[in-house]
Amino acid sequence: MKASLLRSIAAIETNPLELTEVPTPQPGEDQVLIKVSACGVCRTDLHVIEGELPRHVLPIIPGHQIIGRVERLGEHVANRKLGDRVGIPWLHRTCGGCEYCLDGKENLCERATFTGWLVNGGYAEYAVAPADFVYPIPDTFSDEEAAPLLCAGIIGFRSLRLSGLSGRSPGRRLGIYGFGAAAHIAIQVARHWGAEVYAFTRDARHRQSAHDLGATWAGGSFDAPPAKLDNAIIFAPAGELVIAALKVLKKGGTLTLGGIHMSTIPPMDYQLLYHERVVRSVANNTRQDGLDFLRVAAEIPIRTQVQVFDLAEANAALNALKHDAVRGTAVIRI
Ligand SMILES: [Zn+2]
Ligand SMILES: [Zn+2]
Repeated sequence: MKASLLRSIAAIETNPLELTEVPTPQPGEDQVLIKVSACGVCRTDLHVIEGELPRHVLPIIPGHQIIGRVERLGEHVANRKLGDRVGIPWLHRTCGGCEYCLDGKENLCERATFTGWLVNGGYAEYAVAPADFVYPIPDTFSDEEAAPLLCAGIIGFRSLRLSGLSGRSPGRRLGIYGFGAAAHIAIQVARHWGAEVYAFTRDARHRQSAHDLGATWAGGSFDAPPAKLDNAIIFAPAGELVIAALKVLKKGGTLTLGGIHMSTIPPMDYQLLYHERVVRSVANNTRQDGLDFLRVAAEIPIRTQVQVFDLAEANAALNALKHDAVRGTAVIRI
């Protein structure tokens, strides 16, 4: 099969992904083989390629927002059938037996594997995944529209949940820092739940997108909003935003960090944290997050804005992402 392969860690500007032929994977006994039709491009793919995550498995096929159809079933798979349209997300497999898995926190599993980082992902014609870890995709969405839901969407949804937002959040003031793929989706869920959204981004086009999606206010990353915020989520990987967000958070407010990687957080005065403000990170997702989000996404329905690239243009897609030149989410069409 054709795949876009990373052989060694390198800056994306050097175009390290190589379009090449590799053996088509075979499904293990509990896995399905998916014929990939679309794969979303995520900032985490950049972190994998540029070596910002702590482990490196090479060579690797990146990509963890995979949409495709089931082409073969492992011998023990009973819950999927040939032709099913499914998504393969970042959470590839958990162990089911560690203290976190047994406590309903499989996102923190000690032995989890992750798609496109520790096992091959979806910048390819085919991919395999455990049948229990793929999600049926609602008919509401085309393949390209659905791809960004699988990481940007699910992680944004978990970030909202960990911020304390739910279907009963009318009037809550939510700040969103960084207005890329995750924010484009999270704002739609937050508005659906009745929250007011305040968008902080250095990019004027992204401020316009935020207004178009119903933001109450949009300003620069370090601007003061017209009112103090109940909650804030940071999607941009910039540690200095933690200070900026704490400055505009009300007493008792929660600041949620949605990224897998962030630059160093500068020293700060304790007064910024005092009065029971909470800073917490988001790590991966549970399968329940994914299923719940896809149900809500179809109900709303979420609209994703995508910029489509061919498999041969994977380097270009990632370069565009790194340099803020993608509006919405880059999606590779296979
Ligand atoms: Zn586990
Ligand atoms: Zn991702």
